[in-house]
Amino acid sequence: MIPSILPTYNRAPLSFVRGEGAWLIEADGRRFLDLGAGIAVNALGHAHPALVAALTAQAGTLWHTSNLYQIPAQQELADRLTAATFADTVFFTNSGTEACELAVKMARRHFHDAGQPDRTQIIAFEGSFHGRSSAGIAAAGSEKMTHGFGPLLPGFTHLPWGDHDALQGAITGQTAAILIEPVQGEGGIRPLPDQCLKGLRDLCDERGILLILDEVQCGMGRTGRLFAHEWAGVEPDIMMVAKGIGGGFPLGAVLATEHAASAMVAGTHGSTYGGNPLACAVGNAVMEEVATEAFLQSVRARAGYMRQRLEALVAAHPDVFEAVRGTGLMLGLKCKAPNTDVLAACYDQLLCTVPAADNVLRLLPPLNITEAEIAEALSRLDKAASTLSSC
Ligand SMILES: *Cc1c(COP(=O)(O)O)cnc(C)c1O
Repeated sequence: MIPSILPTYNRAPLSFVRGEGAWLIEADGRRFLDLGAGIAVNALGHAHPALVAALTAQAGTLWHTSNLYQIPAQQELADRLTAATFADTVFFTNSGTEACELAVKMARRHFHDAGQPDRTQIIAFEGSFHGRSSAGIAAAGSEKMTHGFGPLLPGFTHLPWGDHDALQGAITGQTAAILIEPVQGEGGIRPLPDQCLKGLRDLCDERGILLILDEVQCGMGRTGRLFAHEWAGVEPDIMMVAKGIGGGFPLGAVLATEHAASAMVAGTHGSTYGGNPLACAVGNAVMEEVATEAFLQSVRARAGYMRQRLEALVAAHPDVFEAVRGTGLMLGLKCKAPNTDVLAACYDQLLCTVPAADNVLRLLPPLNITEAEIAEALSRLDKAASTLSSC
């Protein structure tokens, strides 16, 4: 008999009933240290007082009105995001997947209205993840995500990660955009070198192509800058964000330049919930905390400490781990043992981590995790690895 929840997830036998900062409390009272943060969603940990206050204040006032009307909190959040980034304009969604949908529509409509209706092709990369909608799975292109779901949305070309020659050869007069994660998340914490992102920007400029960055996982302070592309000193035309931007409340966005967004006039796109008062109240509170140089500096400091400790962990368990990957607090342990075994051993030590492709274990702690908590996490990782290397 089919379970009453459609069985599309492989769930761990854990149910958490409360969260406090970087800690998750299981129904039986056990306290887990959370290095998953809801897959990079709980950027400020669980039950952050400023987020709880923003949400509860809004909940007692007005939940939802529709985008038929002005939404002051949405305007405020858009102003904050455009002030802090390359973008001139923002559209709010409820998820990263919906941000992907709009990014694709925006790029195609841009060229359509510019008198180049044949420019519809989008170049994407193997190992990428852009969500589970028809556009999202077509963009990722992997057998795992697309199997049996055809016919797929046409117009996507998939290139190997980091193959410059393939990229040069794939661009045609029909190329509208290049879509890429500055740091692949699901694909196994694979950062795109700054030089490559610069090269992509130059290529897009030369050929009049739009650069779409998917910062759903690597954005919102995760790498120690507000957005990951800032490290390379380049700017996209369109950017997808979600996950950390809502700190746990469903919120996503597409940020764009005026040029890229010029065709998206009234009536071309919409969303019932996107940018509603509840979501934007929380979004503003998250921005207030995260989008400061002091906070981002503290992320970089914590990240440096965690990386150093992880390098030592890998050196101490060469039969379990191969290497540390990633940047900022978007870190991965490339495993030698099956990453699912390491994941299970971590659960035994009351530590939450997240598996990824390429036999990687992702470590995506809340951005405000303390150094003492990082030290505790490393001690638990060390114990977990010891149980695996002894057998
Ligand atoms: C999670 C994720 C998405 C999809 O976001 P949802 O909110 O799950 O729809 C898209 N792109 C990247 C890089 C992601 O990590």
